[in-house]
Amino acid sequence: MIRQLVPESVCLKCQGCCRFKEIDSVWTPCLLEEEVQDLIDQDIPPAYINMQKKISPVPNPKGEGFVCAFFASESNKCKIYTIRPFECQLYPFLINLRDKKVVLTVDLNCPYIKENISKKEFKEHVSYLSSYLNSPEQLEMLKDNPQIIQAYEDVLDVIELKLLDGDK
Ligand code: SF4
Repeated sequence: MIRQLVPESVCLKCQGCCRFKEIDSVWTPCLLEEEVQDLIDQDIPPAYINMQKKISPVPNPKGEGFVCAFFASESNKCKIYTIRPFECQLYPFLINLRDKKVVLTVDLNCPYIKENISKKEFKEHVSYLSSYLNSPEQLEMLKDNPQIIQAYEDVLDVIELKLLDGDK
């Protein structure tokens, strides 16, 4: 599991994550190959995973738009929190493809990030993620799962990941 920057108590009060404006939003979580298999092994309905290896959103029972199929709107919690996908563990950080470079970015729409981006704790977490994601195992994982390297808007670049040209 990836270490978390945002405290759970903050996340549980927030109305941002796990909700999407469009059914095909780039923000819907994309799964690693092994995560697709793990979820299938858990007997989840096949319709929960789409052809792009993303979790299919469902209509938001509390309003407009969509929510992740694993989101419990009544408790504001993830129903698969202990086995949630890599992308969800990494959020509010995201792996982003920009100008042929693979960069770690952070979502500027996250209220906790807006308040804490200049704090020491944020810089320490970026340093931790830089070591973690630039490790040989994680770079290999990214090479094996190019589907999770996407193009997000409204994000700030924090570090470049050291994938070699031709690896993407
Ligand atoms: S898997 Fe869990 S954490 Fe990830 S988007 Fe769905 S409800 Fe949220």
